[in-house]
Amino acid sequence: MKVPLLDLQAQLKTFEEEMVAAVTDVVRSTRYIGGPEIEALEKEISEYSGAAYGIGVSSGTDALLVALMALDIKEGDLVLTTPYSFFATMGVILRLGARPVFADIDPVSYNIDPEKVAQALADDTKKRIKAIIPVHLYGQCADMTRIMALAEQYDIPVVEDAAQAIGAECPFTENGTTRVMKAGAIGIAGCFSFFPSKNLGGIGDGGMVISQGEQFAKKVELLRNHGAYPKYYHKMVGGNFRLDALQAAALRIKLRHLDSWHKQRAANAATYNKLFSDCGLISGAEITTPVSVYGEASTDENNYHIYNQYILRVSQRDGLREWLLKNDIGCEVYYPVPLHKQECLGVDAEKWDMPHAEKAAEETIALPIYPELTTEMQMYVVETIKKYYQ
Ligand SMILES: *Cc1c(COP(=O)(O)O)cnc(C)c1O
Repeated sequence: MKVPLLDLQAQLKTFEEEMVAAVTDVVRSTRYIGGPEIEALEKEISEYSGAAYGIGVSSGTDALLVALMALDIKEGDLVLTTPYSFFATMGVILRLGARPVFADIDPVSYNIDPEKVAQALADDTKKRIKAIIPVHLYGQCADMTRIMALAEQYDIPVVEDAAQAIGAECPFTENGTTRVMKAGAIGIAGCFSFFPSKNLGGIGDGGMVISQGEQFAKKVELLRNHGAYPKYYHKMVGGNFRLDALQAAALRIKLRHLDSWHKQRAANAATYNKLFSDCGLISGAEITTPVSVYGEASTDENNYHIYNQYILRVSQRDGLREWLLKNDIGCEVYYPVPLHKQECLGVDAEKWDMPHAEKAAEETIALPIYPELTTEMQMYVVETIKKYYQ
């Protein structure tokens, strides 16, 4: 049996005609930049996420970059973030001439640990930290209640890297009231990626910034188009961070399926969890299955974990990876080198001590979890893993 890490062909079959028709309409309209598809997608995604504004942009990376630009992050500033994420989270900080400060992750959720955030903020006596970027890794929100409380205490804006977490929910407590909120709608900005392997993936690159703040959203909108308003009058220096109408049209078709895909991913995760526990691998301590920290995602009506990735923590990870690939099972390591160890940091790469991120980078592996995965395929994956450890 062959089990790919992701199977976009299987997904495409469920809406191919609609998608081709929507894309063809854009081709025939000749409205390729801006226009009704973009505006409709911005409205649909901001409403879906419970945010007031949505600004379509060219990628998840550019969503983060333009959000930091709108906050005037510049040379000499520090930005507090997690050491365990895709490179873009840190890359945008460096591109603006700012430097990252890292707070280690919680080893259960793999998200930034609020205790370490508190420590880093307390240590910043010169008040150089100008923004905090929590990442909702693998499709599960960071502890936004505590992060936002700290951000408020220190008066620092929070940009949520929600590239892997569109639609993921978490209980959020503020002023003694708890509400369920969606990823990206809590900080001053939430950044989404529509890279094809994300839960909502386009037919190319794309992204979006969502926000509750009118002034902030207006600034992002200006920066997206070279800071021009009106046309040819440049109030500030932005870039070309625009989203294509073709992407918007394709994404609108897929958005209608998103919640059912989230549920199917969560159901697949529950199936894996059960299969692993039934075969006794968990008690053998060789394998730790992922934890949905806000409640069991599959039984709950809330999307507390949207499983962009299903991550195991294992012993002999690199050997297991080779074994799975040899047996036609797709798998990947997200991420083999934590951000604080990346060569591009130069001498700074030596100075951080982030034991939980480093351990995660050595011990974790992502298994296929896409919605169209069958139970048979999952049984084959678990059987194959079992054989490796026998
Ligand atoms: C995918 C991703 C990004 C970047 O998104 P692109 O659309 O590929 O530019 C940023 N942060 C995280 C955590 C991601 O997973």
